[in-house]
Amino acid sequence: MNATHSSELNAMLRLPRTLYAPEHLAFGDAMRRFLAAEITPHMQKWEEEGMVPKSAWRRFGDVGALGAGIPEEYGGAGEDFLTLAIAVEEHARAGMAAPAFELHTGIVAPYLVRHGNEAQKRAWLPRMASGEVVASIGMTEPNSGSDLAAVRTRAVRDGDHYVVNGSKIFITNGIVGDLVVLVVKTAPELKAKGVSLLLVDTSLPGYRKARNVKKVGNKAQDTAELFFDDVRVPAHCLLGEENGGWKVLMSELVQERLLVAVRAAATCEAALEMTVRWVKERQAFGGRVFDFQNTRFRLADVATQTQALRVFTDRCIDLHARGELDMHSAAMSKLYSTEVQDSVLDTCMQLHGGTGYMWDYPIGRMWADARVHRIYAGTNEIMREIIGRAL
Ligand SMILES: Cc1cc2nc3c(=O)[nH]c(=O)nc-3n(C[C@H](O)[C@H](O)[C@H](O)COP(=O)(O)OP(=O)(O)OC[C@H]3O[C@@H](n4cnc5c(N)ncnc54)[C@H](O)[C@@H]3O)c2cc1C
Repeated sequence: MNATHSSELNAMLRLPRTLYAPEHLAFGDAMRRFLAAEITPHMQKWEEEGMVPKSAWRRFGDVGALGAGIPEEYGGAGEDFLTLAIAVEEHARAGMAAPAFELHTGIVAPYLVRHGNEAQKRAWLPRMASGEVVASIGMTEPNSGSDLAAVRTRAVRDGDHYVVNGSKIFITNGIVGDLVVLVVKTAPELKAKGVSLLLVDTSLPGYRKARNVKKVGNKAQDTAELFFDDVRVPAHCLLGEENGGWKVLMSELVQERLLVAVRAAATCEAALEMTVRWVKERQAFGGRVFDFQNTRFRLADVATQTQALRVFTDRCIDLHARGELDMHSAAMSKLYSTEVQDSVLDTCMQLHGGTGYMWDYPIGRMWADARVHRIYAGTNEIMREIIGRAL
């Protein structure tokens, strides 16, 4: 069975997928219909506005999309990682980079689910599952991105509060967000061992959402520059142990990087399918663009790369669903999938000719949206560092 693929794609990628059970496939179908009916029609407006409104986040909550992975006792659906993965695939196939739901549900929620105490889970997770609260994670600073241990945002204990000063940049959901998992230094002299995580309510005095930065792609996702001036964060908002943040960050980056790969693999499939359709319709020199040997050869490469990526990614998803994917393999999946994705999208855009470069045509959008995947969740150079160290 290859049921997540259309029949056209099944003809091109013939190795059957065995990852998903019928309930996952049903969730994927429901997600596809929801996106087509309620999200895709508004995308152009949201791109112009630079963000997805809160009302759309609540609709995502209503249909149960935000609660995948959040246990039922905290308002979620308690589903497994495969449910999240199939939802991300559907977003990718629809060419939808926003809302940044996988960041909210697939990256930030697990910090609370796996590392939060009971009070923290009760305070945030039900409202995250319903879409009332939008979540973000604040690691990157103007002077430290790849070198995460060099963050300077400082949290100093003062009675039953931490006083936070500093800034963050490029924070997804940073404008629309109500909660940020904030990476701070509680003991700067200890470098990585002095990192802590705070659950910060973005409405606290001194918390400033300075600007929504303009980007090359992912235009409906808000990406913020943030400043913190003497923000008093209650001490009970410490996530995990003081100075224990680094270990938590490293463990959660496995899922974050795999989710990038999940999106990339499905994006390649969507691009292949739409490009084959296009070249079979488009005429040049009295025949179809598909009839040029060059077109078939280029698409044969794309189909082969996409098939190899699908098999590797499914294996990584399966391992992660069992709790067995390690940092090294997650880095490989992020590195390989995003390099393949850029190559595939570049070829597919080329075969569309000038139409491919138009913003209102999906291949151009996919190309622009995907480029950041080699940069965030750790750049691909950092992935090579991680992989290379173990060789
Ligand atoms: C659209 C978007 C959304 C983002 N969302 C978030 C978010 O929600 N939260 C968040 O915290 N961050 C977010 N980021 C930030 C992102 O994670 C960083 O941009 C990324 O980690 C790279 O850091 P940097 O930009 O400081 O680049 P730098 O670290 O300055 O890197 C510059 C170049 O140097 C290379 N380099 C650095 N170190 C090494 C090394 N050791 N070996 C070889 N090459 C090296 C890099 O690979 C890169 O090519 C987002 C970024 C973007 C663009």
